[in-house]
Amino acid sequence: MSVDQRRRIEVDRRAFLEYEVKCPYCNTAVGPRFVTREHLDVPPNPPYAATVRCPKCKEIFEVKFTDSPR
Ligand SMILES: [Zn+2]
Repeated sequence: MSVDQRRRIEVDRRAFLEYEVKCPYCNTAVGPRFVTREHLDVPPNPPYAATVRCPKCKEIFEVKFTDSPR
């Protein structure tokens, strides 16, 4: 998997909220606490993606929620 692919991962929203999503770089569990920016481009829907900063390796990547509108 290339670095660019790891920068944007698709995840289940519920799994993310439950901290079941793993950092693609170091496998640390990440969740809402580590969101640095929510993407609200599709009002009035909830965020369809968020930028996350891993608390362990400090890598920044985007999580896209798979239940979001396309
Ligand atoms: Zn990490």
